[in-house]
Amino acid sequence: MQKGTDKRQSSETYRIGIKGLVQGVGFRPFVFRMATEYGLNGWVENRNDGVLVQVSGSHRQVDNFREGLLTRAPAAASIELFETEKIPFEFYDSFEIRESRNLSESITEISPDIAVCRECLHDLKSQPHRISYPLINCTHCGPRFSIIRDLPYDRVHTTMADFELCPSCASEYKDLYDRRFHAQPVACNHCGPVYRLEWGDRVTEDIQEILASCAKLLSGNALLAIKGTGGFHLVCDAFNERGVEKLRKMKERDGKPFALMFRSLEEARSYVEIGKAEETLLSSWKRPIVLLRKKRGLFPGIADGLATLGVMLPYMPFHHLLFEKLKTPALVMTSGNFSEEPILTSNEKVRERFGPFVDAIITYNREIYNRVDDSVITVAGGKTMVLRRARGYAPSPLRTGIDLEGILGCGAELSASFCLGKGHLAFLSPYIGDLKNLETLEFYQETYERYCRLFRFTPQLIVSDLHPDYLSTRFAWKLAKENPDIAHIPVQHHHAHVASTMLEAGIEGEVLGFSLDGMGLGTDGHIWGAEVMRADYCDFERLFHFEYMPLPGGDKATREPWRMGLSYLYQSFGEELYDLNIPLTQRFSRQEMSGIIALIQKRINTPMVSSAGRLFDAVAAITGLNYFASYQAEAPMLLESAIDFQETGCYDFEITAGKVSFTPLIRQLVEDIYQGISTGVMAAKFHYSLVQLICGLAMEIREESGLDRVVLGGGSFQNSFLTEKVVHKLENEKFKVYLPGRIPVNDQGISAGQLAIGAHRRKRM
Ligand SMILES: [Zn+2]
Ligand SMILES: [Zn+2]
Repeated sequence: MQKGTDKRQSSETYRIGIKGLVQGVGFRPFVFRMATEYGLNGWVENRNDGVLVQVSGSHRQVDNFREGLLTRAPAAASIELFETEKIPFEFYDSFEIRESRNLSESITEISPDIAVCRECLHDLKSQPHRISYPLINCTHCGPRFSIIRDLPYDRVHTTMADFELCPSCASEYKDLYDRRFHAQPVACNHCGPVYRLEWGDRVTEDIQEILASCAKLLSGNALLAIKGTGGFHLVCDAFNERGVEKLRKMKERDGKPFALMFRSLEEARSYVEIGKAEETLLSSWKRPIVLLRKKRGLFPGIADGLATLGVMLPYMPFHHLLFEKLKTPALVMTSGNFSEEPILTSNEKVRERFGPFVDAIITYNREIYNRVDDSVITVAGGKTMVLRRARGYAPSPLRTGIDLEGILGCGAELSASFCLGKGHLAFLSPYIGDLKNLETLEFYQETYERYCRLFRFTPQLIVSDLHPDYLSTRFAWKLAKENPDIAHIPVQHHHAHVASTMLEAGIEGEVLGFSLDGMGLGTDGHIWGAEVMRADYCDFERLFHFEYMPLPGGDKATREPWRMGLSYLYQSFGEELYDLNIPLTQRFSRQEMSGIIALIQKRINTPMVSSAGRLFDAVAAITGLNYFASYQAEAPMLLESAIDFQETGCYDFEITAGKVSFTPLIRQLVEDIYQGISTGVMAAKFHYSLVQLICGLAMEIREESGLDRVVLGGGSFQNSFLTEKVVHKLENEKFKVYLPGRIPVNDQGISAGQLAIGAHRRKRM
């Protein structure tokens, strides 16, 4: 009696609420093990938006326990909120994991797919029933989002439902102390899905045979289609020119750079520069593609003309097993799709569409339910920026300070996405691609329907782009028509870019926005793309913009930078442009050029644009870097890649009545070509001119308005040189600069901005 009382007196009860990504990542068993380790009793259970823990023990024990929870959590867990509260004493005689409450109507965060963990790689060599099992996983790793059909996250709601657990897997699944306790996709060689190789009429499901055949094929010139986590990859040896050529042929007009998968960080280091931040990203459980500066090796056909390579590390058990058999340090691993179509996920479609092009197909019989491409990340001036948000990131929401409930942002056209608001959370869809064809639209609609079901979302307000012809806008109109009591707000593209950055930064009030990208419809009916605005979430006032320029041939001109080059030359030199002795005018005949000039003079199919992207195009064409783009933003990327880092000079521009004219810049550029100045120097001077321009305008506006928060948005800021220099210069001038990192700065981020604008306009409705 005496003893018991003493113990109770030193014992206190605490309630710990943990929010963030703490479900489906092995968090409850982890809490259980921590509690046991620190000798605490109590319980843990899943709640709507996190995990709730109650423990009784001494103050010191609880302190250590809390410390352990924060510092030793499973890799994929992400704790965003951690609240401890002392409550009246409660006595527990053990620690238990309680049944999850029925959470069906509330949001439960769904874990993104997680790269295979170190322990599983070890089990691959040592666990008898999992020797070389290519789909090994545990509570810390494996597929999640890609296999989930519905919530709660239980095996029956995943594409693993058809696979019955064998006795060994079942006992691991039930064992609290096992790493596979409640691991929904748990499987082994006896009971799980299997890989399959289809090579001509050879078909095998024996993993050793599959690996040996792949190694043999890849050491030749083979091109393979291999099923990944969220879709198929097209794969060949990165050092085999004939394999790469096959791939290029198959992708036809699509000249996009290919991503490489290196065997290891060490091997990658010999070919690309890897800083500390990049190293962390590459080896994180998200395993994104990271853009890295090339060091040596030309990799012909892979990223021609670019200074960077997209690199990732193995993330599926199969990738690791495959590299063990290969001599090459790197494979091309590019999205399995034809240009402008979404990545393929179904075995049948791959046989049908890729069959004629690839030497073999390697697949497995677990269905990919949610299609999700590889993510792409870059580090600019020490800041991480997600450029394509997909595997490893989707469907994690963004926590905001704004009530976004019931709002749907439909996104733009290129790098399409949509965004759902649930409470203060913004659920950004994975990267969907360019909404220009039926396949992509179907992918968009299908993902929307699945997100609505998964996150129990019903729209109350629809926000779309202003552009009436975007398929995403038409989707919005259709949805609004079917639900006449739901309001629909169209939002200007560049305002949405600014709002998107503000949302991620969590800032309110008025800011100074720089929105630079390719094109988006303006409120004056012209096409915008280089907008300086004073903005808040509700409205904006356009203060400066690039002078409107003719875009001869409309959409065609975005694929043919030489047209924009001529447009700028014509503005600066008039008819004298024909006499210029520069690469562009030498490359095309007088007839070809006058055909374009006639379009401009007669305004035939020639909209007026104020676009940063098109200015990059023009400069790339005038300097002879790119006349025809084989993929979106090729010209700007080549121009950035050409930069000579020694050069810090710049060209002139003129600002009159809020319009920025680049006539002086174009004339000086041509002068430099005559002087025999190198392309690298010209590229550097062009970039520094924009840095100068942006900072000059920011200072001028601050002078008048007092605004000192600069918000950057739009695809042009994917250019890491431009972004780094702009941020650096603005910060030197004591501006507060905001740039999104988790929301893509390009058009994938538009839907998040639309959400934020919708939330604020709604208050006025
Ligand atoms: Zn694992
Ligand atoms: Zn099993």
